[in-house]
Amino acid sequence: MTSQRTRERLVQRLVEQGIRNSAVLDVMRVTPRHLFLDEAMAHRAYEDVALPIGFQQTLSQPYVVARMTELLLAEGPRSRVLEIGTGSGYQTAILAQLVGEVYSVERIKPLLQKARQRMRQLRLRNVQMNHADGGMGWEACGPYDGIVVTAAPERIPEDLLSQLATGGRMVIPVGKERQHLQVITRTHEGYETEIVEAVFFVPLRPGKAK
Ligand code: SAH
Repeated sequence: MTSQRTRERLVQRLVEQGIRNSAVLDVMRVTPRHLFLDEAMAHRAYEDVALPIGFQQTLSQPYVVARMTELLLAEGPRSRVLEIGTGSGYQTAILAQLVGEVYSVERIKPLLQKARQRMRQLRLRNVQMNHADGGMGWEACGPYDGIVVTAAPERIPEDLLSQLATGGRMVIPVGKERQHLQVITRTHEGYETEIVEAVFFVPLRPGKAK
């Protein structure tokens, strides 16, 4: 179940689905996704599906994690990346192995606490986490040359746009019933939007939970 061969099959599927960035594929090959699930779900860790992590939230489908990471890195390496929606911390762990520093915000405290333990277990030391409403970003540590949002707002929060550095890229699902993955690039003139593909994420909720 947790074997290298099982992960190798997952990576092959990602390649078949069009993931091309070899650094992203390498990191997904070595990152143990089963560690991000409760025991009862761990046997399904290498299926290409979203899985429940409690609190009505889900660990994103591997294809979506790979795609978002590939889009983030498409115009070159990123040194400071803000992630909204830590959840299990799986996407956080993938990012941490590919960018300089990761700042991750989660509104549900027990999820954040578990994710923090997993970062320690995997010795990923370039990650900082914050229990807060990610719709407001994390201003104190910004601006960021990359932002990844793993819960969908109906409209992109102003605070996230303003914390994006010039030349920075934000990958974010936007919409209610119908959602699309968007890539926002901040230029000297303003913001450019590219609509990538249809996706399905849990909603970005306002405020922080206990
Ligand atoms: N990347 C995560 C996905 C988790 S699902 C993973 O692969 O495990 C999305 C997460 O976004 C949930 O944990 C949810 O609690 C969180 N979330 C939703 N609205 C939020 C907000 N306003 N601020 C911070 N986190 C939020």
